[in-house]
Formats: sequence, C-alpha cells, structure tokens
Amino acid sequence: MELLDGRKVSKEILLSLQKEVVELEKKHIHPKLVVLLVGKDPASVSYVSQKQKACVTTGVQWDQVDYETDVTTEQLIEKIQELNKDETVHGILVQLPLPKQVYVPDVIRAIEPKKDVDGFTAYNLGKLFLSTEFEYLPPCTPEGVIKILEHYKITVEGKEVVVVGHSNIVGKPLSIMLLNRNATVTTCHVFTKDLASHTKRADILCVAVGKPNLITADMVKEGAVVIDIGINRTKEGKLVGDIDFENVSKKAAYVTPVPGGMGPMTVACLMDNTVKAAKRLNKLT
Ligand code: NAP
Repeated sequence: MELLDGRKVSKEILLSLQKEVVELEKKHIHPKLVVLLVGKDPASVSYVSQKQKACVTTGVQWDQVDYETDVTTEQLIEKIQELNKDETVHGILVQLPLPKQVYVPDVIRAIEPKKDVDGFTAYNLGKLFLSTEFEYLPPCTPEGVIKILEHYKITVEGKEVVVVGHSNIVGKPLSIMLLNRNATVTTCHVFTKDLASHTKRADILCVAVGKPNLITADMVKEGAVVIDIGINRTKEGKLVGDIDFENVSKKAAYVTPVPGGMGPMTVACLMDNTVKAAKRLNKLT
C-alpha cells in the first residue's frame, strides 16, 4: 500500500503559490483572505489557525473577524457586504458551523461569488455542473481530492468511483467533479441500502461521513484507492478518519492517512482559490 501523502503534496502546492504571490506583489496585488469566526469551538479554532499558517507560508494576507456566539444573521451579512466592496479583500470565508440562531444559507448567499473561496455559493456550486472548465472556485475539500489523485497520477476516467456522504460541501460537489472527469460515480448516503455492496465495487472509494470505522476491510476491493475525508476525535483525543485504517491499508493500493491526508489538501486548495480569486478580480485571468 502506498500512502497518499496530503502533507507533502499540500506543501508543494503552498510553495508554488508562494512564488505566484511574489509575482503578484510585483504588480502591486496583495492577495488577502478574511475569515469570520463565531465563538471558540475548538475544532473551528484549530481549522482557522491552520488556514492562518498557510497564509503565512504563501504570503497571502490574513485578517480575522471574531464574533461572540450570540451574533445575528444580519450582523454577519453586514460585515460580508462591507468585505464584498473592499477592493483589498479577495477571499471571504465564514467558518462553519454557525450557532443555531444564524440562518446559514442567507450568510453564504451574501458572499460575492468572485470572493467565495470556500466555493459554497449556489453560483460557484452551479458552475460545477457545466464542466471542468467552469470549476472556477470549487469547494476546497473536493478540489483537494482531485488534486491528490492528479499528483499520484491516478486516473479517474472510466473508473468505478463510490462517494459515501452527500453533503453540499463535500459529497455532492465531489461526485459532480468526478463525473466531469468521466468516472462512473455512485453516491451513497444514510438511506443507501447495503452500503458494502457499493463500496466493494469501487476502484476509487471516497468517504466523507464523520463516523469512525464506518468502512472496514471487507467493504473494500483488493487494490482500491481509498480517500478518507472524515475527521473524528476519539475518546482518547486521537484524530481518526472514517475507515479502519489498519486493516483497509492491508487491502488497498493507496490510502490517505488521517491526519495528514485531506485536511492539509483542503487548506492548500483554499490558498489556491484565494490566489485565483485575486488574479481574477484584477483581470489577470
Ligand atoms: P455532513 O454534512 O454531516 O455529511 C455526512 C454525510 O454522510 C451525509 O450525506 C450523511 O447522509 C452521510 N451518512 C451519515 N451516516 C451514514 C452512514 N452510516 N452511511 C452512509 N452515509 C452516511 O458532513 P460533511 O461536512 O460532509 O463532513 C463529513 C466528514 O468529513 C466529517 O467527518 C468532517 O469532519 C469531514 N470533513 C473533513 C474535511 C477535511 O478537510 N478533511 C473537510 C470537510 C469535512 P444524510 O445527510 O442522509 O444523513
């Protein structure tokens, strides 16, 4: 089994972006990302800090706006509208999840699509349906899956690909992006009858559910490529994915580790989207 090393591949992406940022700065363009963080949920704080570190590595400018957990939908929208108009800002990201009183669809909808570096607006998600050519600001985790497969020269065309999980931010857009690359895609979810009968057929199995050990070795085809997107914390405080890593890795040809797989790839793709947005907003692409 070969590990698909997200840490290594993401570093390469960040270093290449660093060079692009230097070139943009010569043109007086300073790519800038602004993150809105509500509350102090430890997982959200940790994700935000990883994004900030990636900004430091690439030279992308960073700003963070913190809110208490009693923030309203209107307050967030007001800030987003201000950032939409600010020409020094190229990427706006609202760290999810948000407290119950906030209506998330309205918050996401308020983001100017050209600055939607998380790729969550209906505009950017809708463009995914057209073709790879229109994947302008794709959601970062699905884009990370595509990039890691490309890095390891794992072709998707004609393959049986099974995606487990159909969320709007991971499973659904990932399924569409794989379809755009001519895979035969099956998307499974909580209502799928006999999950194993699908996963066992997969040449490439992508799992984004959030349940440790959901995928056991008997559910995986010999020689498959397994992309574990899940992030779960065990009672002992250890980070694990959705697959039984120890046993699945004896059967699969390639596996992404957790941590060190899709997490860093997601952050690298966020940086890539921010640089792309800065270029596009300055009419360089
Ligand atoms: P989500 O919105 O909770 O979606 C989970 C999906 O899994 C849903 O489609 C759900 O179906 C499905 N599901 C639940 N139980 C299932 C089961 N027993 N069998 C098959 N499908 C099942 O979560 P998400 O935002 O997509 O995230 C999924 C996981 O990926 C989480 O662990 C999250 O932390 C992780 N994640 C990682 C990254 C990264 O950077 N590596 C980024 C984003 C997310 P229903 O909707 O029908 O219930």
